[in-house]
Amino acid sequence: MQIATQPRLFARYPSLSEQLAWMPLASVPTPVEKMTAIADWLSRDDVWMKRDDLISPLYGGNKVRRYEYVLAEAKRLGRTRIVTVGGLASTQVMATALFGKAHGFKVSAVYFDQPATRFMQEALLVDATAGAEMIYGGGYLRTIWKTIGAYRREPGAYFIPPGAANPIANLGYVDAMFELAEQVERGEMPRPDLIVLPTGSSGTLAALGIGARLLGWNTEIVGVRITLKIATNALTVGAVARGTWKFMRAKSKELSAQAIDPIRYRLLHSALGRGYGYPTDAAVAAMPMVQRLLGCSGEVTYSAKALVGLRELAQSEATRGKTILFWNTLSSQRPDVSGVDPFTVLPPDFHRFFRGEPQV
Ligand SMILES: *Cc1c(COP(=O)(O)O)cnc(C)c1O
Repeated sequence: MQIATQPRLFARYPSLSEQLAWMPLASVPTPVEKMTAIADWLSRDDVWMKRDDLISPLYGGNKVRRYEYVLAEAKRLGRTRIVTVGGLASTQVMATALFGKAHGFKVSAVYFDQPATRFMQEALLVDATAGAEMIYGGGYLRTIWKTIGAYRREPGAYFIPPGAANPIANLGYVDAMFELAEQVERGEMPRPDLIVLPTGSSGTLAALGIGARLLGWNTEIVGVRITLKIATNALTVGAVARGTWKFMRAKSKELSAQAIDPIRYRLLHSALGRGYGYPTDAAVAAMPMVQRLLGCSGEVTYSAKALVGLRELAQSEATRGKTILFWNTLSSQRPDVSGVDPFTVLPPDFHRFFRGEPQV
């Protein structure tokens, strides 16, 4: 793997590069490999995985490809600070804290509540040691209020919404489909009939769907829903896909006259349980599988629930003989915070999340 000098998207649609900023953060292509480590648990040995967990030694997962566009855009606009908002265990806040710091931005993060887990504790310590300013929001209204306050406090702020979900960011996963297509062309894996991934803001799902359309692939993207239906549904996925496609057409001469069909996708609803971040029995049971698969501790919000959904799909009669690709979105690379004392590095508002041992 190596750091790319330009995205495949720019090579394919050169006029995009005149309109959009981009900076290299990712080592690509990320490997595709069979999920042999958990073949017994899946009851299948022919499921593939795309290892976006390895995309950067600093921090991996599905935010990195997006930030190649997002941070470059913030730089292009001359912004010096980034304000973002997410749950207490937010992967996008971690990515913002780490890559923001590496590229010279001051980062402020506002947090809303989610169930306490060990992953959450680790995420907060990563954010703190990366030097992010941490602001506790709690409930949704207070979080919005405090986010606006942080944004307005000083000039020069760039805002990254929860999930880093905007059309600029989504380009990262349109690009990723072209990367996969080259791997298929080289014979590293067969063309997938199904691509499975956990879905929150739907940005990654919609972008992969657009990429499949541009490639002329018939692949169906299956999003394992990890938020409530009000946040992830046919309307939101459709809106994100249309918004991203419109943005691409507006920015590219090559695409301006092109039409594409709606993306081919489906949502799986069975893995969520009570809501975003809440452990379910099935997800807790799947956590050791994350460890086996990626060599890092799992978490319930995305990775464990995604595996629960994947397993259900892989075992269903309808997918027999089909090529399934699990697009792994969790990072296996994180700064080691095992020796860090939370009561020293964290603001007092966050200390309560370290009193007592979480269930998972
Ligand atoms: C952010 C994140 C997702 C959700 O991606 P969306 O594009 O917001 O749907 C899934 N998995 C992991 C591990 C994430 O960090």
